[in-house]
Amino acid sequence: MKLTTIGFWGGYPKVNGASSGYLLEQDGFRLAIDFGSGVLSKMQNFIQADELDAVIISHYHSDHIADIGVLQHARLVQGYLGKDMDPLPIYGHRLDEEAFARLSYKNITFGVEYSGDNPIQIGPFKVEFRRTKHSAPCFAMRFTSGGKSFVFTGDTAYTEELIPLAEDADVLLCECNFYGSQCGEDAGHMNSFDAGTLAEKARVKSLILTHLPHFGDHSLLLNEVAQKYAGPVKLAAYGQITSI
Ligand code: ZN
Repeated sequence: MKLTTIGFWGGYPKVNGASSGYLLEQDGFRLAIDFGSGVLSKMQNFIQADELDAVIISHYHSDHIADIGVLQHARLVQGYLGKDMDPLPIYGHRLDEEAFARLSYKNITFGVEYSGDNPIQIGPFKVEFRRTKHSAPCFAMRFTSGGKSFVFTGDTAYTEELIPLAEDADVLLCECNFYGSQCGEDAGHMNSFDAGTLAEKARVKSLILTHLPHFGDHSLLLNEVAQKYAGPVKLAAYGQITSI
């Protein structure tokens, strides 16, 4: 699998950046994971809107779905201009029916429910889910393909429930919205010690920190994680490519 980080900011995009958005590719299949603010613009440096095969959404907070509407417009316009596309499936949960309904637009995109209870198959990816601890219903996801595994936490406070999902993953993309001196529990997010603890307990092979805060020195997050997790860790960055 090839993972490209398009947006990594928590809450909203910093100037010229993007909030949550990732591209996961395998065997020519292109899956976008979350589609937050700024993602459509930045994604076009890598692939075009008409080249996506599917999208999956962890939850319906704006920093994870803000660009779904403009993605729909982009595919509508590119269709008018002669691009030949099938309707795009956008996978989401139905614990917010209004938000789920907005995944469908004309014959351009259509919402596909995941319940979170059972694994689903999206192209070459087997996807398993675990509900997270967050202020809106949100699911962490484990993608398996070609004998490798990639886990994305979505948004969540620390919970041991995520350990089985993340167990032995080749790459854990873990939210880390706070520094170790701060408690993320009430906000429904993790701090650096939480992220390191999850990675260590799940014995993941490598860790990437994302959903990064708009304050402080991010290098401190790496130092704090290293106090809990002995494996390799890096900060998510725009355009970062990770082979899994
Ligand atoms: Zn959220």
